[in-house]
Amino acid sequence: MGKTQRIAIVGAGLGGAAAAGLLQQAGFQVDVYEQAPEFSRLGAGIHVGPNVMKVFRRLGIEKPLEAMGSKPDFWFSRDGFTGDYLSRIPLGNFAKREYGAAYVTVHRGDMHLLQMDTLAPDTVQFDKRLETITDSGDDVHLTFADGTEARADIVIGADGINSRIREALLGVEAPNYSGWVAHRALIRGDQLAKYDLTFEDCIKWWTEDRHMMVYFTTGKRDEYYYVTGVPHPAWDFQEAFVDSSREEMFEAFQGYHPTVQALIECTEEVTKWPLRNRNPLPLWSRGRLVLLGDACHPMKPHMAQGAGMAIEDAAMLTRCLSETGLTDYRTAFALYEANRKDRATRVQAVSNANTFLRTQEDPAWVFGYDVYEQPLREGIAA
Ligand code: FAD
Repeated sequence: MGKTQRIAIVGAGLGGAAAAGLLQQAGFQVDVYEQAPEFSRLGAGIHVGPNVMKVFRRLGIEKPLEAMGSKPDFWFSRDGFTGDYLSRIPLGNFAKREYGAAYVTVHRGDMHLLQMDTLAPDTVQFDKRLETITDSGDDVHLTFADGTEARADIVIGADGINSRIREALLGVEAPNYSGWVAHRALIRGDQLAKYDLTFEDCIKWWTEDRHMMVYFTTGKRDEYYYVTGVPHPAWDFQEAFVDSSREEMFEAFQGYHPTVQALIECTEEVTKWPLRNRNPLPLWSRGRLVLLGDACHPMKPHMAQGAGMAIEDAAMLTRCLSETGLTDYRTAFALYEANRKDRATRVQAVSNANTFLRTQEDPAWVFGYDVYEQPLREGIAA
């Protein structure tokens, strides 16, 4: 009897956790290696489109996510100065009917925990920062910063924008700084009661070169969240993010609508993050190594679909490996790339351009997509 074939996933972020859950559900033996010392409720708000909820349906977490998150009836876009409506994109029951699932906004950490809970016990190892990866042709050898090592038949690089596995495939290259930063702040819902203003469930305030996206992260509306896009000439900090301040926010959003001013007034803590991206990669896999999510196609976050693409990738890769079996991973990887690259690249381009839903447009190509309903287009094995 041959030895059990194993898949290693490096990175237990939103894409890695989805891949692990779906592959285990499909019967594969999966080990996940994550550099963080433990799970933590990282990040702030996240949009989860119906395209992603359809994948979560397979994982059994669609209903709990829907129950915990906010389900906006519309995505509004408004002029930051005048408050005029630029678009009213129907979500709510319309999304369920037209796109086949709900549109949810939620805390990223709460969603991530639901995802992690789908994994088989003891299949995630924390404190495992990948250092080297060697594809011998027969299997893959991984070494970690703590001095341990592992072997696997194939390795999925779900290790984010600074992916070591992308480096192994394509060489060391820092991502591009886009020239924009994102400020992120969570506001207690009860703080809003003192204003005679309407705080809409999901709204993006726009002016020419900047914006502020605002939404609730819970169904109870007790946590409101904003994330901005603001030009910032250079990112001179060593850290992944730095503290910002209410003063900096008032300056960046001078002249904006009173509702935005009220949100800044309510801000207790606000952080500032560089927005980075990469050009589309010339390859997504080589030999026994394959990439997904931000390791493969990082983007500015303005379409709120970066994690969506990582999770769709996870679903398509599982579909392709189930189709071919693990032994024929080359065909699976070629199929995967052939069936994901156009969509991920299109979303990456629109997200980087920051045009999505600014004016009244039909988002069905994004939200209506069902990764399980796509006829598989043939790929060419590398
Ligand atoms: P990540 O979630 O970054 O996970 C990578 C994991 O790999 C991490 O856990 C990391 O610790 C681990 N790792 C890295 N290196 C190593 C190593 N050497 N060894 C072991 N482990 C390693 N997307 C949406 O869909 N909706 C939104 O509303 C949204 N809003 C956003 C707002 C902002 C401000 C930003 C910056 C992004 C936003 N995104 C959003 C994008 C989304 O967060 C990312 O696209 C998504 O997290 C990518 O998932 P991933 O699994 O590929 O990478």
